[in-house]
Amino acid sequence: MSQHPALVEHVLTREEIQARVVELGAQISADYAGREITLTCVLKGGFVFLADLIREITIPCSIDFMVISSYGTGTQSSGVVRILKDLDGPIDELDVIVVEDIVDSGLTLSYLLRNLKTRKPASLEVCALLAKPARLENDVKCRYVGFEIPDTFVVGYGLDAAERFRELPDIWSVDEAKL
Ligand code: 5GP
Repeated sequence: MSQHPALVEHVLTREEIQARVVELGAQISADYAGREITLTCVLKGGFVFLADLIREITIPCSIDFMVISSYGTGTQSSGVVRILKDLDGPIDELDVIVVEDIVDSGLTLSYLLRNLKTRKPASLEVCALLAKPARLENDVKCRYVGFEIPDTFVVGYGLDAAERFRELPDIWSVDEAKL
């Protein structure tokens, strides 16, 4: 599987990801010590990251999921987002951390944060595994970022290309022409 012709090179190995997720979990646990947090996972891409992150968090936390679809062409998002599945419960008065797989232009996250803010959480922060600073068009503030990566399309560790490659433990860059 790792030798699919579209997989160009390792961007991050499972060991690198795991080590950083441990750090992020420790940081979040320290920053919110004495409080309880709600992790809002954006599906589908964020599910592997959430599963690893939550096991590194040592304070009480609950989880909820959102499924959103970003209108766009090919691999570009437009920032116009449709909520396919909303949170199960209200978030007013809660300390919420949005768990995202990747922030690219930031348009999707910017829309999502505006939407969640209207629900009056006690606090609202973002934990993104990956960010592509070269592409960031929006002034979205991510309190926690796992890795900054170059402007290349990546798959693995929950991230897909047309629903493929989510199962890969490492993160790879892909040659989209060979998909
Ligand atoms: P943005 O609105 O920040 O441009 O796009 C964010 C969403 O686009 C992410 O949540 C993810 O679903 C998708 N995306 C952006 N860059 C990549 C990438 O390199 N690989 C994959 N698999 N998805 C990406």
